[in-house]
Amino acid sequence: MKFLVIDMQGFCIPEFIPKEMTFTDGRYVAHYWIKALKPFKDLDPKIKKHIRWFENNHHHLRYNDGIVDSNEVPNILYKHIIQDQVDTVYVKGHIKQHFLQFNLGQYNGIRLINLENTLDVPHLLQCMPYNCTHHINGQKTACVCSYENCKTIYNWLIGKLP
Ligand SMILES: [Zn+2]
Repeated sequence: MKFLVIDMQGFCIPEFIPKEMTFTDGRYVAHYWIKALKPFKDLDPKIKKHIRWFENNHHHLRYNDGIVDSNEVPNILYKHIIQDQVDTVYVKGHIKQHFLQFNLGQYNGIRLINLENTLDVPHLLQCMPYNCTHHINGQKTACVCSYENCKTIYNWLIGKLP
């Protein structure tokens, strides 16, 4: 069995768009910072308010930041999952699960497991993003980081696997 842990942090505009994506299978960690698809100025005021809240209170990732073009996301998923012949993907949260389901729908045979309702799965809390420089205030303020989340889930998971 070849498995992969994925975590993403992003915004709902209202559909989920990832801003930060992290993948790990224990041998490598891949970390992407995704550019916004639509400019902030073109968004609905209600959505802008939602974005500001997440920027300032949750993951501290700026909507306008990023390096990788959002059109690259399907290719990134293809590379890490299909090309790498992963058969099981672990993710925590139904929004992230739906995003992956939607993007991987055309490929059969991949088990997508949402750990959200699994007993004793760790909470993904705000922490200092020691391995990540994507967040407002750099590494000085606690926030929710996909890199840290991915590590937390992976470490929990390997303790559970036979
Ligand atoms: Zn981060």
